[in-house]
Amino acid sequence: MLGQDRGVTRLDPAVLEAAVAALTDAALADVVAVVAWPDPAAGRDADGRPRAVLVADHGGLARLDAENPDGVAMSGRHPLPSTDPLAFLPYAAEVAEPSPAHERNAYPLPWLRLSSFFADRRSPDLAIVHTAGHYFPDEGGHRGEHGSLDVIQSRAPFLVSGAGVRVRGLVPGHARLVDVMPTLAWAAGVEREALEHLDGAVRDDLVGRGAAYVVGLLWDGGHPGSLLDLAERGVLPNVARLLERGCALSGGAVAEFPSLTLVNHTSMLTGVGPGRHGVVGNVYWDREQGRRVVPNDAATWHRTGELYRDDVTTLFEAVATARPGVRTASVNEMTERGSWASTFALVRAALSSGEALDPGEAGSGESRDFLSAVRALLPDPLASDLVTHARCHEDDDYAFYSAIDLLGLSTMVGLFSAPEDERPRVAWWSQYTTDAAHHHGGPRSAIAVDGLRDCDARLGVLLDHLESIGILEQTLFLLTADHGFETARDDMTGSWTTALHAALDPFGVPWRDEGPGFLYLGGG
Ligand SMILES: [Zn+2]
Repeated sequence: MLGQDRGVTRLDPAVLEAAVAALTDAALADVVAVVAWPDPAAGRDADGRPRAVLVADHGGLARLDAENPDGVAMSGRHPLPSTDPLAFLPYAAEVAEPSPAHERNAYPLPWLRLSSFFADRRSPDLAIVHTAGHYFPDEGGHRGEHGSLDVIQSRAPFLVSGAGVRVRGLVPGHARLVDVMPTLAWAAGVEREALEHLDGAVRDDLVGRGAAYVVGLLWDGGHPGSLLDLAERGVLPNVARLLERGCALSGGAVAEFPSLTLVNHTSMLTGVGPGRHGVVGNVYWDREQGRRVVPNDAATWHRTGELYRDDVTTLFEAVATARPGVRTASVNEMTERGSWASTFALVRAALSSGEALDPGEAGSGESRDFLSAVRALLPDPLASDLVTHARCHEDDDYAFYSAIDLLGLSTMVGLFSAPEDERPRVAWWSQYTTDAAHHHGGPRSAIAVDGLRDCDARLGVLLDHLESIGILEQTLFLLTADHGFETARDDMTGSWTTALHAALDPFGVPWRDEGPGFLYLGGG
């Protein structure tokens, strides 16, 4: 039933059809928004990118390609009700209709994002897009969720500030997360020609060149609507401080699909989508190696670079090539290949030294991971006034990531305490408490607000430090996130697993659902 043809799996059309039929049954409409897959009839281009993608829900089927990037209905009604990247704006519209029903939702840039996603053979045969409100705690889901193709889970902040920023205030429009790398690289002195092959664009409408220092700030899962709203209301004074000297796009930056952490950390810092960098999910099946890969895991964060495809260039590598000798830093960020200073390079060094940093883990050899390497080095979040202590008692992840973020802050301040000629000229700092807080309570929950507020307080310490050494005005900042968040709904529970078993098991071919939502048919 299955065969290999120049590295591309040829799967039985009947198996695919059965999966699509099962998943688009109206009985699953509360949990499945749409399914998407490469159109087998259209083939792929030389880079492996499908020439067309099909999208279906319980009411219709559409075909998307380069000429019809929003898709054309092939049967029934169009399964994507809207593709507007600026849907649910202004923010009050999102608040008025949180976790919208599929029929009222928007799915921006579907062709660009889906065709990029399916370009790598690590991608599944079929992607299952959860509804905005799908609640699946039994399969790893949380109260706050992301990963969808939809606009709110895919919307990250895009705020630029300081030296070289051309525009002020809230600017209507949107960027893509793949624009981050080329924009910062160009601002830092990389020539445009070296960036033209990327999926992302240099946003020179917002940013100019000439900043002495470039600092990228990633607040993981930092919900853009909340971020800008809380900044305006005085709850996030340091985001407001950045905004006073810069601008934010109303529609933020559209994440790559799926709107998951490691996919988008990698996309924003390499300027290409998952089909080109190869980190297609937080978990995926590697057909060539016949193994399940879990990139977004504390045990393997320091090895993310091993997953990259051959032609990947990080921001740090681009700057190092264009400006040899210039120091770059990647702080608490998994995308760090080529950086002069890197948290995860320290983790690798600690793990390869054979000396356990945590006495409790001594001698455990290969089983030691990032957690055991850094645990003994982490600050105590309950000893810091930059952390909301009550939230640490409420949620272990909040406590752990607060400690990680305190370590990140001290690393950043340390790097910028060096003599002028030893400081990084391009630095990236990722904070994570925002993600833990939003998973725990969903956007706009009290814990989510505290997560944002704590990250803002730590940002304030960095800004004060840069001001104290006289370089704040010479620094370009870009604040973004890897995805948005929506609140799962108690009335939208359930799973598609039983329906898939009923539809696929009679064929007698192996299949697997990773994520859940990455459906691999045929195992080959
Ligand atoms: Zn994330």
